[in-house]
Amino acid sequence: MLVRLTDGWQELLRRHAQSGGYPRPVSDLLGEMLAAAVLMQGNIKFNGSLVLQVFGDGPVKVAVAEVQPDFTFRATATVLGEVADGVPLSHMVNVNNQGRCAITLDPKDRMPGQQPYQGVVPLFGSRHEKLERMSDVLEHYMLQSEQLDTRLVLAANEHIAAGLLIQRIPTTGEANLSGTAAAQAREDAIGRNEDYNRIATLAASLKREELLTLDADTILHRLFWQEPIQRFEPPEGVLRPRFGCTCSRERVAAMLESLGVAEVEGILAEQGQVEIGCEFCGARYVFDPVDAAQIFLSRQDQPPASSQVQ
Ligand SMILES: [Zn+2]
Repeated sequence: MLVRLTDGWQELLRRHAQSGGYPRPVSDLLGEMLAAAVLMQGNIKFNGSLVLQVFGDGPVKVAVAEVQPDFTFRATATVLGEVADGVPLSHMVNVNNQGRCAITLDPKDRMPGQQPYQGVVPLFGSRHEKLERMSDVLEHYMLQSEQLDTRLVLAANEHIAAGLLIQRIPTTGEANLSGTAAAQAREDAIGRNEDYNRIATLAASLKREELLTLDADTILHRLFWQEPIQRFEPPEGVLRPRFGCTCSRERVAAMLESLGVAEVEGILAEQGQVEIGCEFCGARYVFDPVDAAQIFLSRQDQPPASSQVQ
C-alpha cells in the first residue's frame, strides 16, 4: 500500500503554524506517523479511530496521529525544549530509554466500560539498539505484537507526508495456494518466505527523496520492474485521506462537566470565561458564565449544542 498526503497535510501544518508550529524534525516525525497511521487504517479497515502515539522522554513529550475509518486525519505534538535541525529520533523521544510507541484501536461502537485495544512497545530493536526511524519502530511493533512481517518506508517534508507499506499476509485456509500443510507451515514461518523477502528488500531500497517526489506508478515500476504489477485503485466510495478534526463544542462541554462545577467556577472567577483551544485543529471554544451554568443544568432541557470551528 502506498499513500501520499499533500493538501490535507499542508492544511494541518498551516493550522499548527498559527499557534507557533513545530521544529522541522518534529513536523517531519508527525508526517511520517500520519502516513503510517493512514496505511495501517487502510490495511485493517477498522471501524473506529486508529491512534498512533509516541510518548517521549526528551523534548518531544508526546506525538499523536489519528485516523478515522473515513480517512479523516489529525495530528499534534507537545514539545518542551529545543529540537535542533537534523536530530535523530532518539534525541527527541528516547533520551533516557523511556520512550514508548503505542497503537490504539478505539471502536466506534464501544460498549460503556469497554477498553479500547492498545499495544505498546519501547523504542528499541531486537538487539536492544535505539531505533532511529519511525518506520523501524513500527516494523518492530508489527513483528512483536502482531507477528507480521512488515516493511515500511516513510518520509515527510513541509509539502507531503508519504509512506509505502509491504506486509506479508498469513496464508491460511482453503484459499492458500501453497498446497500441503507442510508448505503452509514453511510459508508462515516469520521472515522465511522468499517472495516476501525479495519484495521487502526491493521496497526497502526506496529512497526518502524518491518517495517524496515520485508518483505512485513511477515508484512501483522503479522498485518492482521485474515483477508482474497490478495496481488496485481505492474502491468506489472510499474517500481520499484528508484533514479533519473530531472536536466539537458538545465534547468540550462534556469535558468541562467532568471537571466539576467547582473547578469551572474557579476558572470563571479568575478569567471571566472558560476558553478551551483544540490542540489538533486550533478551534477555540468559549464558555461565558451563562454557557457554563447551562452545562451543569439537566442536559435534557437544553437545545442541542452546535459545533463551532473557526
Ligand atoms: Zn479540533
